[in-house]
Amino acid sequence: MLLLRAVAERDNVYARLDALARTDPLTGLANRRAFLEHAQAFLSAAARSGAPLALLLLDIDRFKAVNDRFGHGAGDAVLRAVAAALRGAIRVGDLPVRWGGEEFAVLLPGTDLPAAVALAERLRAAVRDGVPHPAGGRVTVSIGAARLGLGPPDAALDAALRIADAALYRAKASGRDRVEAASEADDATGGKR
Ligand code: GH3
Ligand code: MG
Ligand code: MG
Repeated sequence: MLLLRAVAERDNVYARLDALARTDPLTGLANRRAFLEHAQAFLSAAARSGAPLALLLLDIDRFKAVNDRFGHGAGDAVLRAVAAALRGAIRVGDLPVRWGGEEFAVLLPGTDLPAAVALAERLRAAVRDGVPHPAGGRVTVSIGAARLGLGPPDAALDAALRIADAALYRAKASGRDRVEAASEADDATGGKR
Protein backbone atom coordinates (compact mmCIF):
# COMPACT_ATOMS: atom_id res chain seq x y z
CA MET A 1 0.00 0.00 0.00
CA LEU A 2 2.77 2.38 1.02
CA LEU A 3 4.77 1.33 -2.02
CA LEU A 4 1.79 1.94 -4.32
CA ARG A 5 1.36 5.36 -2.83
CA ALA A 6 5.06 6.12 -3.28
CA VAL A 7 4.87 5.05 -6.93
CA ALA A 8 1.76 7.17 -7.53
CA GLU A 9 3.46 10.10 -5.84
CA ARG A 10 6.55 9.66 -7.99
CA ASP A 11 4.44 9.51 -11.18
CA ASN A 12 2.69 12.65 -10.05
CA VAL A 13 6.01 14.44 -9.61
CA TYR A 14 7.14 13.31 -13.06
CA ALA A 15 3.87 14.48 -14.61
CA ARG A 16 4.33 17.88 -12.98
CA LEU A 17 7.95 18.16 -14.11
CA ASP A 18 6.81 17.20 -17.59
CA ALA A 19 4.17 19.95 -17.59
CA LEU A 20 6.72 22.47 -16.27
CA ALA A 21 9.13 21.60 -19.08
CA ARG A 22 6.45 22.57 -21.58
CA THR A 23 5.28 25.77 -19.91
CA ASP A 24 6.75 29.25 -20.00
CA PRO A 25 7.03 30.25 -16.32
CA LEU A 26 6.44 33.97 -16.87
CA THR A 27 3.22 33.80 -18.89
CA GLY A 28 1.96 30.29 -18.23
CA LEU A 29 1.64 29.75 -21.99
CA ALA A 30 3.04 26.70 -23.74
CA ASN A 31 6.70 27.12 -24.66
CA ARG A 32 8.39 26.54 -27.98
CA ARG A 33 9.15 22.91 -27.18
CA ALA A 34 5.47 22.20 -26.45
CA PHE A 35 4.51 24.03 -29.61
CA LEU A 36 6.78 21.91 -31.78
CA GLU A 37 5.36 18.71 -30.28
CA HIS A 38 1.74 19.83 -30.70
CA ALA A 39 2.40 21.12 -34.20
CA GLN A 40 3.39 17.64 -35.37
CA ALA A 41 0.09 16.23 -34.10
CA PHE A 42 -1.93 19.12 -35.58
CA LEU A 43 -0.20 18.64 -38.94
CA SER A 44 -0.90 14.92 -39.03
CA ALA A 45 -4.56 15.52 -38.16
CA ALA A 46 -4.83 18.23 -40.82
CA ALA A 47 -3.24 15.96 -43.43
CA ARG A 48 -5.79 13.22 -42.61
CA SER A 49 -8.85 15.46 -42.54
CA GLY A 50 -7.87 17.94 -45.25
CA ALA A 51 -8.74 20.79 -42.86
CA PRO A 52 -6.56 23.88 -43.18
CA LEU A 53 -4.05 24.90 -40.52
CA ALA A 54 -2.58 28.36 -40.01
CA LEU A 55 0.08 30.01 -37.91
CA LEU A 56 0.51 33.52 -36.49
CA LEU A 57 3.78 35.05 -35.29
CA LEU A 58 3.40 38.10 -33.04
CA ASP A 59 6.11 40.47 -31.88
CA ILE A 60 5.60 43.28 -29.37
CA ASP A 61 6.33 46.68 -30.89
CA ARG A 62 9.21 48.73 -29.43
CA PHE A 63 9.41 46.44 -26.44
CA LYS A 64 13.05 47.17 -25.69
CA ALA A 65 12.07 50.74 -24.76
CA VAL A 66 9.77 49.38 -22.00
CA ASN A 67 12.69 47.56 -20.39
CA ASP A 68 15.11 50.42 -20.93
CA ARG A 69 12.85 53.12 -19.53
CA PHE A 70 10.83 51.29 -16.89
CA GLY A 71 12.91 48.25 -15.97
CA HIS A 72 12.71 44.53 -16.51
CA GLY A 73 9.84 44.17 -14.05
CA ALA A 74 7.66 46.49 -16.10
CA GLY A 75 8.68 44.54 -19.22
CA ASP A 76 7.67 41.29 -17.58
CA ALA A 77 4.29 42.77 -16.60
CA VAL A 78 3.70 43.76 -20.23
CA LEU A 79 4.60 40.24 -21.39
CA ARG A 80 2.08 38.76 -18.94
CA ALA A 81 -0.61 41.23 -19.99
CA VAL A 82 -0.06 40.47 -23.68
CA ALA A 83 -0.31 36.73 -22.94
CA ALA A 84 -3.58 37.32 -21.06
CA ALA A 85 -4.99 39.38 -23.94
CA LEU A 86 -4.11 36.60 -26.40
CA ARG A 87 -5.66 33.94 -24.20
CA GLY A 88 -8.85 35.97 -23.98
CA ALA A 89 -9.15 36.53 -27.72
CA ILE A 90 -8.40 33.11 -29.24
CA ARG A 91 -10.84 30.25 -29.74
CA VAL A 92 -10.98 26.91 -27.95
CA GLY A 93 -8.57 24.63 -29.82
CA ASP A 94 -6.16 27.38 -30.83
CA LEU A 95 -2.71 27.00 -29.30
CA PRO A 96 -1.01 30.17 -28.01
CA VAL A 97 2.73 29.94 -27.32
CA ARG A 98 5.50 32.09 -25.93
CA TRP A 99 7.86 31.66 -28.81
CA GLY A 100 10.72 33.38 -26.99
CA GLY A 101 11.61 36.84 -25.69
CA GLU A 102 8.79 39.19 -26.69
CA GLU A 103 7.53 36.96 -29.49
CA PHE A 104 4.44 34.78 -29.43
CA ALA A 105 2.96 32.26 -31.86
CA VAL A 106 -0.57 30.93 -32.25
CA LEU A 107 -1.42 27.71 -34.07
CA LEU A 108 -4.89 27.78 -35.61
CA PRO A 109 -6.44 24.44 -36.56
CA GLY A 110 -9.28 24.45 -39.09
CA THR A 111 -8.31 27.94 -40.21
CA ASP A 112 -7.46 29.14 -43.71
CA LEU A 113 -5.36 32.22 -44.40
CA PRO A 114 -8.23 34.78 -44.62
CA ALA A 115 -9.70 33.50 -41.35
CA ALA A 116 -6.23 33.58 -39.75
CA VAL A 117 -5.85 37.21 -40.79
CA ALA A 118 -9.27 38.03 -39.32
CA LEU A 119 -8.30 36.39 -36.03
CA ALA A 120 -4.94 38.19 -36.09
CA GLU A 121 -6.79 41.49 -36.42
CA ARG A 122 -8.83 40.55 -33.34
CA LEU A 123 -5.66 39.72 -31.40
CA ARG A 124 -4.04 42.96 -32.47
CA ALA A 125 -7.11 44.90 -31.25
CA ALA A 126 -7.24 42.89 -28.00
CA VAL A 127 -3.64 43.87 -27.18
CA ARG A 128 -4.00 47.48 -28.28
CA ASP A 129 -7.24 47.91 -26.29
CA GLY A 130 -6.24 45.78 -23.31
CA VAL A 131 -2.55 46.27 -22.52
CA PRO A 132 -1.59 49.64 -21.01
CA HIS A 133 1.90 50.96 -21.73
CA PRO A 134 3.87 52.08 -18.67
CA ALA A 135 4.55 55.39 -20.45
CA GLY A 136 0.82 55.90 -21.00
CA GLY A 137 -1.01 54.87 -24.13
CA ARG A 138 -1.12 51.27 -25.27
CA VAL A 139 1.18 48.41 -26.13
CA THR A 140 0.85 47.19 -29.71
CA VAL A 141 1.92 44.08 -31.59
CA SER A 142 2.78 43.32 -35.20
CA ILE A 143 1.61 39.99 -36.62
CA GLY A 144 2.57 37.78 -39.56
CA ALA A 145 0.13 35.10 -40.74
CA ALA A 146 0.83 32.01 -42.85
CA ARG A 147 -0.91 28.77 -43.70
CA LEU A 148 0.79 25.46 -43.14
CA GLY A 149 1.27 23.45 -46.30
CA LEU A 150 1.00 19.72 -46.75
CA GLY A 151 4.02 17.46 -46.86
CA PRO A 152 6.50 16.24 -44.27
CA PRO A 153 5.60 17.97 -40.95
CA ASP A 154 9.09 19.30 -40.22
CA ALA A 155 9.45 20.88 -43.66
CA ALA A 156 5.88 22.24 -43.62
CA LEU A 157 6.42 23.81 -40.22
CA ASP A 158 9.81 25.27 -41.14
CA ALA A 159 8.36 26.78 -44.30
CA ALA A 160 5.33 28.25 -42.51
CA LEU A 161 7.52 29.75 -39.77
CA ARG A 162 9.81 31.30 -42.36
CA ILE A 163 6.88 32.70 -44.31
CA ALA A 164 5.10 34.04 -41.21
CA ASP A 165 8.37 35.66 -40.14
CA ALA A 166 8.74 37.37 -43.52
CA ALA A 167 5.16 38.65 -43.22
CA LEU A 168 5.88 39.86 -39.67
CA TYR A 169 8.94 41.68 -40.95
CA ARG A 170 6.75 43.46 -43.51
CA ALA A 171 4.28 44.40 -40.76
CA LYS A 172 7.16 45.98 -38.82
CA ALA A 173 8.60 47.72 -41.87
CA SER A 174 5.25 49.19 -42.83
CA GLY A 175 4.69 50.91 -39.52
CA ARG A 176 3.95 48.26 -36.78
CA ASP A 177 0.59 47.63 -35.05
CA ARG A 178 -0.32 45.78 -38.24
CA VAL A 179 -1.20 42.34 -39.59
CA GLU A 180 0.41 41.05 -42.78
CA ALA A 181 -0.51 37.81 -44.52
CA ALA A 182 1.97 35.60 -46.31
CA SER A 183 2.38 36.58 -49.94
CA GLU A 184 3.86 34.78 -52.92
CA ALA A 185 7.01 36.85 -52.46
CA ASP A 186 7.56 35.54 -48.91
CA ASP A 187 8.22 32.09 -50.31
CA ALA A 188 7.88 30.85 -53.86
CA THR A 189 7.29 27.23 -52.90
CA GLY A 190 5.98 26.91 -49.34
CA GLY A 191 2.70 27.96 -47.77
CA LYS A 192 0.50 26.79 -50.64
CA ARG A 193 -2.04 24.05 -50.29
P1 GH3 B 1 10.41 46.06 -32.69
O1 GH3 B 1 9.22 46.97 -32.69
O2 GH3 B 1 11.21 46.17 -33.95
O3 GH3 B 1 10.03 44.63 -32.40
O4 GH3 B 1 11.37 46.56 -31.51
P2 GH3 B 1 11.64 45.87 -30.10
O5 GH3 B 1 12.24 46.89 -29.21
O6 GH3 B 1 10.42 45.19 -29.59
O7 GH3 B 1 12.62 44.69 -30.52
P3 GH3 B 1 13.98 44.17 -29.95
O8 GH3 B 1 14.17 42.81 -30.54
O9 GH3 B 1 15.05 45.18 -30.17
O10 GH3 B 1 13.75 44.03 -28.38
C1 GH3 B 1 13.31 42.90 -27.76
C2 GH3 B 1 13.60 43.04 -26.28
O11 GH3 B 1 12.91 42.06 -25.52
C3 GH3 B 1 15.05 42.86 -25.92
C4 GH3 B 1 15.05 42.06 -24.62
O12 GH3 B 1 15.71 42.76 -23.62
C5 GH3 B 1 13.57 41.95 -24.27
N1 GH3 B 1 13.19 40.70 -23.62
C6 GH3 B 1 13.30 39.43 -24.12
N2 GH3 B 1 12.82 38.54 -23.22
C7 GH3 B 1 12.40 39.22 -22.11
C8 GH3 B 1 11.81 38.86 -20.84
O13 GH3 B 1 11.58 37.70 -20.53
N3 GH3 B 1 11.50 39.86 -19.97
C9 GH3 B 1 11.74 41.18 -20.28
N4 GH3 B 1 11.41 42.12 -19.38
N5 GH3 B 1 12.31 41.56 -21.46
C10 GH3 B 1 12.64 40.60 -22.35
MG1 MG C 1 11.48 40.53 -31.39
MG1 MG D 1 9.59 43.59 -30.67
